[in-house]
Amino acid sequence: MDLFEYQGKQYFARFDIPVSAGGVADTVDEAVQQANAAGFPVVVKAQVQVGGRGKAGGVKLAANEAEVREHAGHILGLDIKGHVVKRLWVEHASDIAEEYYASFTLDRSAKQHLGMLSAEGGVEIEVVAERNPDAIARIHIDPVDGLTPERARQWVTAAKLNPKATDGAVDILVKLYRCYTEGDCDLAEINPLILTPEGAVHALDAKVTLDDNASFRHPEWDDFRGMAELDPREARAKEKGLQYVGLDGDVGIIANGAGLAMSTCDVVNQVGGQPANFLDIGGGATAEIMAGALEVINSDEKVKSIFINIFGGITKGEVVAEGIVQALERVTIKAPIVIRLDGTNAEEGRAILKSHESDTLISLPTMLGAARKAVELAGGKAQ
Ligand code: GDP
Ligand code: MN
Repeated sequence: MDLFEYQGKQYFARFDIPVSAGGVADTVDEAVQQANAAGFPVVVKAQVQVGGRGKAGGVKLAANEAEVREHAGHILGLDIKGHVVKRLWVEHASDIAEEYYASFTLDRSAKQHLGMLSAEGGVEIEVVAERNPDAIARIHIDPVDGLTPERARQWVTAAKLNPKATDGAVDILVKLYRCYTEGDCDLAEINPLILTPEGAVHALDAKVTLDDNASFRHPEWDDFRGMAELDPREARAKEKGLQYVGLDGDVGIIANGAGLAMSTCDVVNQVGGQPANFLDIGGGATAEIMAGALEVINSDEKVKSIFINIFGGITKGEVVAEGIVQALERVTIKAPIVIRLDGTNAEEGRAILKSHESDTLISLPTMLGAARKAVELAGGKAQ
């Protein structure tokens, strides 16, 4: 689960990471109240889960009430890269001497945590990585050893932060590491981490992704969920327990097994189409699960055709076919369906599908052939 900046800052505060005093506002009047509580000058910040808010006009300094009104009025409702701003975070503005970057995430291939620190903060880290890769000091941290203050100090030195920032940065990095590990984050990022003219170091922004697999031990995370910015399609899929990722194309995809679902996306791409989603229905393709999957795909306005790609393993072909047929009786589908059924008892399964075939329900034996048909039915030109 991705947190909004204000939630990330609330999370940081639990681990004693210094953040500016502030509060959330959903209206201009609330923004003024929060500004008075935080103390002028303030910064008014759009709460959307997308980077580069500053550049998009979603982060504004305000010296007085009139400016808060002006900026809050402008930012609320603003569309930032497809995300409409419904909430603001208003915090006491900081004086900035320098902007740094700090983050922890998991390096799967190294099987260790990865810390990244740079004296070039405030810009997207991908940009720094491209323009000046040496400006990022990386460390791998063995989860058993953790991050000691000594190691953090060496790391800060390697990143060439201003010596004035050393103590503050070491302190924050150790706390951020604790937040990342004990707080069960997939990502804990501060950009910018600032040094003030007075020599204080603190977090001006917060990007936190919580590891959903750990939610069972964090009942307090429920507080974060209310505002969660789930794709409506993903929310619907989640309710049904489906593994679903929304994409931008027009060919809806249903497959059993994550590997097959990914290959299906690849094949659709390969023949010149664009998948509308990734959807793994798992092992058992029952009528219940299939109907749920079709409902989710059906609710996506962009879908022009549906490609069901099932490889029968333990679940036999005829059971899968029956499941599809029953599901189609329950759900009225808006787009034509192409089915490729293979594996155990594929022949029996295809025979069942055959008796239900029409212009909008087509069964084809190969993955490539079925992908081409699905792309054509979506109005594309299959290669
Ligand atoms: P992002 O653009 O979405 O990453 O939003 P940030 O929260 O990182 O803010 C963008 C930029 O706005 C920062 O890099 C700062 O330069 C500036 N900014 C944010 N907060 C303050 C503040 O309190 N004081 C000043 N002077 N600038 C700020
Ligand atoms: Mn930022």
